[in-house]
Amino acid sequence: MNRDESSGPPADIVDEVFDAAWEAEARRTVAEVGFDPGLAVRVARDALRVARGDLSPAQFHETYHAAYMRAFGMDLRPSGEEDASQPETSQDLVEFRITVPESPAGADLPGDDDGTPALVSRRTAVKAAGAGAAALLLAQMAGAWLPGAAADGGAHGGHQAAPPPADQSTKASGKRQMGMVIDLEKCDGCLFCVNACRQAYSLTDGVHWIYVFAYKEPDSPDVHLLPRLCNHCSNAPCVKVCPTTARHRRSDGLVLTDYDVCIGCRYCQVACPYGVNYFQWGDPKKNGGGYTGERRDARGRSVVGDPPRGVMGKCTFCPLRQDSHHEQGTTNCALACPHDVLHYGDLNDPQSEPNLYLERRRQELGGRLRTFRLLEDLGTKPNVIYIGAPPSKKAKEVPGPVAYEDWGLVHRRRDALEGPEPWFRRLAGGK
Ligand code: SF4
Ligand code: SF4
Repeated sequence: MNRDESSGPPADIVDEVFDAAWEAEARRTVAEVGFDPGLAVRVARDALRVARGDLSPAQFHETYHAAYMRAFGMDLRPSGEEDASQPETSQDLVEFRITVPESPAGADLPGDDDGTPALVSRRTAVKAAGAGAAALLLAQMAGAWLPGAAADGGAHGGHQAAPPPADQSTKASGKRQMGMVIDLEKCDGCLFCVNACRQAYSLTDGVHWIYVFAYKEPDSPDVHLLPRLCNHCSNAPCVKVCPTTARHRRSDGLVLTDYDVCIGCRYCQVACPYGVNYFQWGDPKKNGGGYTGERRDARGRSVVGDPPRGVMGKCTFCPLRQDSHHEQGTTNCALACPHDVLHYGDLNDPQSEPNLYLERRRQELGGRLRTFRLLEDLGTKPNVIYIGAPPSKKAKEVPGPVAYEDWGLVHRRRDALEGPEPWFRRLAGGK
């Protein structure tokens, strides 16, 4: 058998979600950054088969190992039965309050020191890597993730992570699973959440880590609204395909991208069935955004804010808030929502805000609470729970009640950036 070929059994739902139109778009997406599109397509489909339990993680790893070594000079994908969450926070809850950066526009872009665009320098570093260079890169990455080790800053320079306070070690090892409950019956499409996120993280024009879809069902004049963001999946295909483990799952369930480590191959983008990843094409400073990677989480890792050029970004569930005594269990979007729609917290804690809200609504509705998670049948275990009815496959996107332009926002990323919005098409039928 050709070891680079898919070894998973046919799984209709995988082929349905990752269909021919998806494949064409996925190939284009990866070809644009100079990596192997055929490998990306195969590995994305099989990552979903792993998520569904149709293919074992060990088989998945073995099947593509040689191809990853050829394509990237490395293969740091998770190889066990479970995607191991990356090491516990090295410095659990820390005492600070969140501040929005004052003026990111003046900051220098990482990777630009020598005049070389980050996109080019990252790609070159990997694709040109011989065994020695690749080994050095791997060693840097592995060292950055040892508990309590110095996070060396990878491509962007040094940073020393503080050692864990001894009296906080049990908190650090707690089994939190941060997640969100979104009450669709209360959303009025005001876009406060969208704007708050963009402001907090200085996001580039056209990038909406939380995005409110407005849609209609056939034969009904009603406009429905659905805020969409990264689901921080417990069984995330994006994590399974990342060659560098830049895309990783933190011990509290946040799925994050380490901007120091990401090489911009876009494999995570095509493997995610939810369309929530935003590749940073250009200079964020020139597109309304700003690199905010100088802010690091409690492990010392660069996972916060608008990414630098050539790096993947998406909703982060506000890691600095989760690292803070004062702000844990909050996100910028949930705090900004004036209509009690977004409820964020630890889904494993029965007393957390989202669980208490679910119970409250269940009682209000006489026990007839309807909930769903997006594309739940895929086995990705999304950690965003919606209250209300899911869109049907015949739903069509329509303009919302509040225009993105009213907030000074660019409505569609295609208008400002590039790329498809396949998520809604897959979920709600073609458009
Ligand atoms: S929704 Fe988020 S965690 Fe889930 S696959 Fe997509 S990017 Fe990964
Ligand atoms: S996080 Fe970066 S390195 Fe990992 S798959 Fe995504 S683009 Fe590639």
